[in-house]
This record gives sequence, C-alpha cells and structure tokens, in this order.
Amino acid sequence: MSAAAEPIKRRKTRQRALILKILRSTKSHPTADWIYNQVRKEIPDISLGTVYRNLRLLKEMGEIQELQWGSTYSRFDGNPREHYHFNCLQCGRVLDVDIDVQQFLEELVEKKHGWKVTGHRLEFWGLCHSCREEPREVK
Ligand code: ZN
Ligand code: MN
Repeated sequence: MSAAAEPIKRRKTRQRALILKILRSTKSHPTADWIYNQVRKEIPDISLGTVYRNLRLLKEMGEIQELQWGSTYSRFDGNPREHYHFNCLQCGRVLDVDIDVQQFLEELVEKKHGWKVTGHRLEFWGLCHSCREEPREVK
C-alpha cells in the first residue's frame, strides 16, 4: 500500500506510536526539533506541527512529560514517572537524578502555610561528569 492510500486513522496511530518509541528509546530529554528529525527518517513527509500535536497528545495521555524552563524551549521525557533532573550548565545535558521524590517537602509546605499542595518541582544544576573532568574546549 502506498503512503497516500494509507487510511488517515492508521497513519495517525502509526505517527504517534513512532514518536513514543523514539522518546522511550533515548535518555537525552530531546527537543521537539530533534524528535522531528528522527521521525522524518521513517515518515519523511511528516510536519513539525504534527510532531508538536502528537507530543501534546502523548503528554495529555500521561505517556510522556514536557520539561519546561522559563522562556527556553521545552524538552521531552519518555519516562512519565515523577523524577528530578540535573542540568549541566556547560554542555546543556539534562540528566535523570536517581533519588526518590521528596514527598515530605509537600507536607512541610502544607503544614507551614495550610495550602493543599498537590505537587512540586525541584531542579538541580552544575557540571556533569565529562564537563567536570575536561576543561572547556572551543569547537
Ligand atoms: Zn556537561
Ligand atoms: Mn527524565
């Protein structure tokens, strides 16, 4: 069957499954642009808008997470479980932090302020292993 003859519903399902597969196969917390370039290797005529739409949908479905830092572009995480991240200030890597989510922080804030706390965000930053060991190179 040619790509044009493929039923729309099946095409949409295939696009979404591929985007999810790509995200689940990397630990790099990629941007939408990076994902778009990977998807295009298998579906050359896909648009960036379609990739964005699918990322939004997968996020709503609870399959992936969107990581946002203020005004900078989002990165995406194929791991939907709550966990913390470490940002390398030199190379820009985003790494998973292997500690438990600190639930007591929410209780602490609830007790202090009397709010109903339903979540929190905690970020770490500094230098990753390779940036710590190697002096900065201009490439
Ligand atoms: Zn680094
Ligand atoms: Mn992560």
